[in-house]
Amino acid sequence: MPDRLGRPSDAPIDWTAITAEALEVFRAYLRIDTSNPPGHEAPAARYLGGLLEAEGIPCEYIETAPGREALVARLRGDGTAGALMLANHTDVVPVDAAAWSLPPFEGVLRDGRVYGRGAVDMKSTGVMHLFSMILAKRLALPLRRDLVLLAAPDEEVGSDQGMAWLVEHRPDLFEIEYCLNEGACGLDEFAGTPSRLFEVAVSEKQLSPLRLVTTGTPGHGSKPAADNPAVRLVRALQRLEEWDRGLVVSPVGRAYLERLQVAGLVGDLDDRAALEAALKASPDTEAAFSNTLNVTMLDAGIKSNVIPARAEATIDCRLVAGQSREAWKRAVEERIGDPRVQVEFLYPVEPDVTVSPWDTPLARVIEDVLTEAFEDAVVVPSTAIVGTDNRFLRPLGIPAYGFIPCLLSQAERDGFHANDEFITVANFNLGVELMFEVVRRACT
Ligand SMILES: [Zn+2]
Repeated sequence: MPDRLGRPSDAPIDWTAITAEALEVFRAYLRIDTSNPPGHEAPAARYLGGLLEAEGIPCEYIETAPGREALVARLRGDGTAGALMLANHTDVVPVDAAAWSLPPFEGVLRDGRVYGRGAVDMKSTGVMHLFSMILAKRLALPLRRDLVLLAAPDEEVGSDQGMAWLVEHRPDLFEIEYCLNEGACGLDEFAGTPSRLFEVAVSEKQLSPLRLVTTGTPGHGSKPAADNPAVRLVRALQRLEEWDRGLVVSPVGRAYLERLQVAGLVGDLDDRAALEAALKASPDTEAAFSNTLNVTMLDAGIKSNVIPARAEATIDCRLVAGQSREAWKRAVEERIGDPRVQVEFLYPVEPDVTVSPWDTPLARVIEDVLTEAFEDAVVVPSTAIVGTDNRFLRPLGIPAYGFIPCLLSQAERDGFHANDEFITVANFNLGVELMFEVVRRACT
C-alpha cells in the first residue's frame, strides 16, 4: 500500500517488509507471559527496550516493584513543541487455558489471525507504538517534539505499580503535551451497517463498583430457615438483574450521535426506539450509553449444613461520565427495596472522570490521517467503556486519547479479557501504518 496515505516521496517505506518484521516482534511479545496477577512484566520491558536499544534509542527501565518494570524510551525533538507520549501496558489479564482452543502464550498465527492473550489488549498496540518510534529513528525524522514511549506494568489490576506509581514518583515523565493509549478503536460495522467508524476515546466511564452485604440468623441446615441472608441476597440481585435502566446520553455521547447521524449510521436522534435498537446492536456501544451493572463475586456460607450468617455480592458498575456516584448508589438501594441489604462503595474514594478536549492539533492530525486513508472514514470522539491508564493523565491537563487505528470486528472486540483473543494480520498491519503516520505528522 505504498501511496495510499499520501506520504511524501522522501520517506519511502517498504511496508511489506516493515509489517512482516513487526508481526514477528508481536508474536514474540505474546510469548512473554505477563499475566497479572502477578504481572512479572520486567522481561516484557526488557524485550521491547532491547529492540529500541538495537536501533540506538536510549531506554530507561524503572522498577516499580520487584520483577515489575516500566520501559521509557525517548527520541529528542527540537523542542519547539511539547512531547507526544505513546503509552501502553505490558501486562495482560490471566487466562483460563483449558477454555482456549489454542495455546494463549505462543503467538499462534493461523488463517490470517494472530491468537494470544494480549492480541488486542494491548500488545498489538504496544508494537504499533514501538515501530512508530523505530521508524522515526530509522528515517531520522526531523522531530519538533520529543517522542516518548512508555510501556507500563500493572494496568490490569489498577495501576498501583504502574501508571499511578509513575505519576506519583516520576512526574518528570509527564511533562508532555499529549498522550495516546488504549480505550477505543475503529469498528468495521455499526449496528449491522459496514463502516469505517474510528472511535477515539476522550473520556471513560466512571468506575463505581458496589458491595451488597446482608446478615441473618445462622442455624442448622436441617430445619426450615426463616432468615437466610443468602436467599435475601439472591432476591436483591434478581431485582437488579431485571432493572430496565434505559440509555444515558452525556455531552460526549450526544456529539458522538450527531456525527454518526451526519454519516448516515443512525437516523433521527429523537426516534428513541430506533436509536436504542441501533445502540444495543453492539454490547460495546450499549455499554457506552448506559450505566452498567454486573454481578462479579458472591460469597456466603462456611459449610454445607450451616445456614450462613452473612452473604455478600460484589457488583461491577460503570457509570456514564457526569453521573453522580451517590445518586447511583441511592438508585440501587431504591431498586433493591430492602433496608436489610446494605449497599456500600467498594472503593470509598474514586476520582471523577475527566474529559480531554477534542479541538487540538493532534485530534486534527488523527482525523486527517484516517480520512485520507479511507474516504468513508468516520472519526468520532467517544467514551471508553473500560478504565485505562489515561485516567491518571487527563486530570493533569494532558489531552489523552484512546486510539487504536484498526478496524476491529465484533469478534475481535469480544476478545478483550476473553478466550481465543485474536487480531487479524490485516488489522495489525493497518495499525502499524496508521500509527506511524499519525506520529510522523504530529511530530514533524
Ligand atoms: Zn488494556
